[in-house]
Amino acid sequence: MNEDARSGEPVRCDVAIIGGGMAGATLALALDSAGLEVAVIERDDPGNWAAPAFDGRVSAISAGSRQVWQALGAWDAMAPDAEPILDIRVTDGDQPFVLHFDHNELRGGPMGYIVENRDIRTALLDAVANAPRICLMAPRAVDAIDRDGAAAVLSLDDGGEVHALLVVGADGRGSRVRESAGINQTNWHYGQGAIVTTVLHDRPHEGTAEERFLGPGPFAILPMTDDEDGGHRSSIVWTERADLVPAYLDLNDADFNAEMTARFGDHLGGVRATGPRWSYPLGLNLAESYIAPRLALIGDAAHGIHPIAGQGLNLGIRDAAALAEVVVDARRLGLDFGMSTVLEDYQRWRRFDNVALAAATDVINRVFSNSLSPLRLVRGLGLAAVNRFGPARRLFMREAMGLAGDLPRLVRGEAL
Ligand SMILES: Cc1cc2nc3c(=O)[nH]c(=O)nc-3n(C[C@H](O)[C@H](O)[C@H](O)COP(=O)(O)OP(=O)(O)OC[C@H]3O[C@@H](n4cnc5c(N)ncnc54)[C@H](O)[C@@H]3O)c2cc1C
Repeated sequence: MNEDARSGEPVRCDVAIIGGGMAGATLALALDSAGLEVAVIERDDPGNWAAPAFDGRVSAISAGSRQVWQALGAWDAMAPDAEPILDIRVTDGDQPFVLHFDHNELRGGPMGYIVENRDIRTALLDAVANAPRICLMAPRAVDAIDRDGAAAVLSLDDGGEVHALLVVGADGRGSRVRESAGINQTNWHYGQGAIVTTVLHDRPHEGTAEERFLGPGPFAILPMTDDEDGGHRSSIVWTERADLVPAYLDLNDADFNAEMTARFGDHLGGVRATGPRWSYPLGLNLAESYIAPRLALIGDAAHGIHPIAGQGLNLGIRDAAALAEVVVDARRLGLDFGMSTVLEDYQRWRRFDNVALAAATDVINRVFSNSLSPLRLVRGLGLAAVNRFGPARRLFMREAMGLAGDLPRLVRGEAL
């Protein structure tokens, strides 16, 4: 699709996606793969996405999300930077109970992968740039959306227009698309912030991801690929009380390393932070509806959850795969895929999964983010019980791998 709104002519496409982040780009690639014309309007300059200053996070990518990207031809570019997750160990403070998930228990390779967000974004952007039917408009913003007619009309900040049968809001937690459609959301803050940085440690992590429940919140150690010099790396997601986060970020290197090591432990030898420190406020948001006439929401625009289980993006990828499937199937039947009946199928399909995981992460965070003695005992016994009961352990693993429930074709690794 070569037209451009800068030429003065409106861009006409099947689907206009507002937000070219990881969920929006995945949806664009999925629709392109089935022959639909797509416009992606992104307010940032994607030229900045590979820079170290862009995003310090890694994402735990489920086996299901990997299959989506594999089916869309985007995975191979990320694979060299993806560290397989072979084991997951969950502990509760200094209690002796350990919940251990071992990938060997389920046939079919790693439980997931740890990939830097910058690498995911860059790989998706390259795939978008090479897709024949995607028009990426960036940096551009949408001033207004008119959804009253037989097509939605988007007015852009440079005077251009985009006409589409369906508009998708993939514009993240503060979604302007959701707001402009008058869709309310439930949201709250956890009073916690996540401190994120990359650390080097003396011994290899052997593909083990760890989650430690500490008083202020979970402390996660996520295994990364070695650096260019062979240094062993992990990313930490260190949850703290929101009001204390700035003080930790301001510590000098020696004090920061001392505080971090006290939580990290010495099981991987000496450990030191390398690179910038980042922080993210933690909250929950759930849109009351994912759809409106000629409009659908995906990813964090529809639901933002606590990162305690590393699943927020994975939910957004499943949204993209499910929405692409209902749209493509409707189009093959000759239906107007902007119709409410089609969009309702998408909402029905995705809502339960998203709300269930939002509720589960909310409860786990509340139950584990405190040091009350009786609760700690019950928690420890709970971890030990799940650890001893194979079927429960395998159920958790299949959920975390994104391979449970009614899966879209792309998540099963099939073409649309
Ligand atoms: C500390 C932390 C750790 C996490 N770890 C994990 C993990 O391990 N695994 C996991 O699955 N999830 C994880 N998550 C969640 C994950 O980061 C989010 O769910 C994911 O980034 C959401 O992707 P998205 O594409 O929906 O939204 P976003 O990443 O927010 O992207 C939205 C895009 O829309 C653009 N945009 C915004 N407004 C507009 C506009 N008005 N017009 C045009 N463009 C616009 C933005 O520039 C951006 O490119 C974590 C979150 C946090 C905070």
